[in-house]
Amino acid sequence: MAKLKAAILGATGMVGQRFIESLIDHPYFEICALVASAGRGGNRYVDTNRWKLTSPLPRNIGDIRLITTDVGEIRKSGARIAFSALPSDVATELERDLANEGIAVFSNTASHRMDSEFPLLVPEVNPETIDMIEGKRGYIVTNANCSTTGLVLPLKVVEPLGIRRVFVATYQAVSGAGYPGVPSLDIMGNIIPYIGGEEEKMQRESKKILGVYDPSAKTVRDASFELHASCVRIPAIDGHFEAVEVEVEKSVSPEEVIDLFEQFDSPKIVKDLPTAPEKAIIYRREPDRPQHRYDADAGAPQARAWGMAVSVGRVRVIDNWVRFMLISHNTRRGAAPGSVLNAELAHKKGYL
Ligand code: NAP
Repeated sequence: MAKLKAAILGATGMVGQRFIESLIDHPYFEICALVASAGRGGNRYVDTNRWKLTSPLPRNIGDIRLITTDVGEIRKSGARIAFSALPSDVATELERDLANEGIAVFSNTASHRMDSEFPLLVPEVNPETIDMIEGKRGYIVTNANCSTTGLVLPLKVVEPLGIRRVFVATYQAVSGAGYPGVPSLDIMGNIIPYIGGEEEKMQRESKKILGVYDPSAKTVRDASFELHASCVRIPAIDGHFEAVEVEVEKSVSPEEVIDLFEQFDSPKIVKDLPTAPEKAIIYRREPDRPQHRYDADAGAPQARAWGMAVSVGRVRVIDNWVRFMLISHNTRRGAAPGSVLNAELAHKKGYL
């Protein structure tokens, strides 16, 4: 079967680079265009000197000439799909224009996450919402803010206990701020107890993702729990760590909660997708895990799923408060391969 052509918007950024990495030798999709800002149009990718991943810049990518965010140019590349990693002010109009041109947009930006006609998708959590795009040729499928994605997976696991309130404190890596991101003098040996807009995004996006989907109206009613977030930038390169406290309706023991995490299985429709991790949640029983260094890349065995599992540990229960900690890779699970997984689900459902 011929592969579907995909353009990467914002291809020189931290998320764009992860898109390139995720789409090399992909069984369904192949890169047909790399898009960056106007000043880079016509330049070879390699000459931008922007590759910041530890994996090498894939051969055959370096010679590709960048194009700009012109809809006509993107169309001319033959793209059926646009994977978007643009700043949201640039993405808002462009993503809509591309969808109106019949292109399937899979976006990492905040621009359309809360639009009622488009899914905000984490396939292991709310796969049914992909049906919101049924019957459309052009559409936008969004994935959540990087810290929200790491949180909603374990929240899905404890959902049967009845979630009343969630308090979450995040410890977020610098790659979450893009490149060049936070100045080194501000973050080396330091933490910054503020990430603009992040707490609000966690609050509203979690409720949409864990909301109730109405298949006849193709709409989502937000979940009713309260969520309060405190977001902090720390001097780690990749991975968002989160300390979570969930007030639940049912009484439960720590062992029962650990069992829920260990028994969690992805929905059948997601399991064999090329970028899906074997286990979306890995429970660490060691007292000092999960950790950035050892757990941010979890998701083996297949390389395509590295960084796609959320590692959870340190379950404690006090009265009706379930407490745990997690780490999730922000530019993998929380960004590019997360979006690729969304596109794989759309492909499997026949929407591409
Ligand atoms: P980044 O490293 O700053 O990259 C931004 C990309 O957008 C670059 O390719 C840049 O191209 C391009 N760009 C900037 N201004 C542009 C313009 N006016 N016209 C066209 N292209 C323009 O940012 P990032 O971290 O990859 O984030 C990209 C998006 O993903 C953001 O919306 C962010 O909120 C979201 N996101 C990020 C993460 C994360 O962990 N980093 C996670 C989830 C979602 P040039 O090189 O030409 O400037």
